[in-house]
Amino acid sequence: MASTHRTQTLDRTWPWVVAAVGIVLAGLAWVLLPAIEIRGGDPRETGSIAELEALSERSDLNVLFILIDTLRADHLGSYGYERDTSPNLDLLASRGVRFDRNLAQSSWTKASMASLWTGLNPHRTGVTRFKHGISEDAQMPAETLREAGYRTVGLWRNGWVDPTFGFGQGFDVYHRPITAGAPDDVKRKNPTMKTNLTDNSAILAAEEFLRVYGDERWFLYLHLMDVHEYTYDEESALFGSDYEAVYDNSIRRVDHLVGQFLVHLAEEGYLENTLIVIGSDHGEAFRERGYEGHARHVYRESTEVPLILSFPFVVEPGVVIASRTRNVDIWPTVFDLLGLPVPEAVDGVSLVPEIRASLQGKALPAGDREAIAHIDGTWGRRDVDPLDAVAVAEGPFRFVRRATLAGGLVEELFDVRSGNGGEMENVIEENEEVAERLRSRAIDYLENSETPWSEETPEVELDEMRLNLLRALGYKLD
Ligand SMILES: [Zn+2]
Repeated sequence: MASTHRTQTLDRTWPWVVAAVGIVLAGLAWVLLPAIEIRGGDPRETGSIAELEALSERSDLNVLFILIDTLRADHLGSYGYERDTSPNLDLLASRGVRFDRNLAQSSWTKASMASLWTGLNPHRTGVTRFKHGISEDAQMPAETLREAGYRTVGLWRNGWVDPTFGFGQGFDVYHRPITAGAPDDVKRKNPTMKTNLTDNSAILAAEEFLRVYGDERWFLYLHLMDVHEYTYDEESALFGSDYEAVYDNSIRRVDHLVGQFLVHLAEEGYLENTLIVIGSDHGEAFRERGYEGHARHVYRESTEVPLILSFPFVVEPGVVIASRTRNVDIWPTVFDLLGLPVPEAVDGVSLVPEIRASLQGKALPAGDREAIAHIDGTWGRRDVDPLDAVAVAEGPFRFVRRATLAGGLVEELFDVRSGNGGEMENVIEENEEVAERLRSRAIDYLENSETPWSEETPEVELDEMRLNLLRALGYKLD
């Protein structure tokens, strides 16, 4: 089910001349546009359960999936952060659905995105190692959508979702935008930038895609990287210059870009017929436990990520889903809304019953689903032993079991109700029964690595160019 040939053909015919004109016009808009304001200008009507149920009958619905790489949930205003990092995302959430406790299935882009797309926990995707790619047997969401008649386009800026690793399956166009350099104020603020590109280039390419294919029914996947790279500009330099403040500046910048794109969608008439999903692949640590960054651990700071759904109608007041959700639930939910089939044997479930119950003011079903996060901290490099870290979140608890470099095993249990919610206090000794139950779940998870696909997980030889692109993102590769 790979689409390499089709992808390349369409890529070559990408209308670059029109793109160049578009970039000039969009560049002017960048200078002239004041702060983003869809408030008051939101063209969508208010809807509720009837409009929700009718979504699957609509033949005009588009799907926009914006993945903001490295965005931890508790740094967004709508998730309780004290800094005003995300006014546009917050507004979208306040008129749609915000999932308050959503877990990514890994803290490393490639493993996390493989789970997000396939609805399977990392061990069952087969994508836990440095060279692994997604099996061609996998039925990827873009394939399902293309078969359902959508024009499918992926615009991505993270080398871990390179088509070499199987992430291009189902996309008519799967493209790394290189059409616009960083604006001057970005260069001034980020003198050590390793690439001259920013999320501007992805947004401009998205607008160009809509100019060309907007009349068809479309699915657009935008994978943004400015937060991962701590890229910010004059306008977003609001919070200071220390490590965490610069991260927040970059969230503010990406929020602004997303806001601009939403205004564009509104002006072009897409907001009333587009289902929008905002998500992230993992969070980021700021030395809470002595380490920083991501792709090593599965504690809350590197795995709790936002998830926001926005309908082609406004929901007032916005829905907040308080139960535990997971990135593996995203596509079962979207397909349920669209009336499309979910691949069998996935670990994720549709969250539509909870959305429906909230809209009807009914009590939600009791209980809390279990969520897994996993990373092999070595990314499966052959010359070292695996360093598996597994987290099992259930109810107020998170159980973490991880191998250490010294050959030991660390087990911790956190209770979100104790302390200030930062999960710094290990309460395993006071909760032996809970620990025992979640430990057995973690071990079961590690022992069940069977993928649902007949073909073996492909292994990819990375050439020097691809390795350099990943190094430019800050990953330390041999
Ligand atoms: Zn990432």
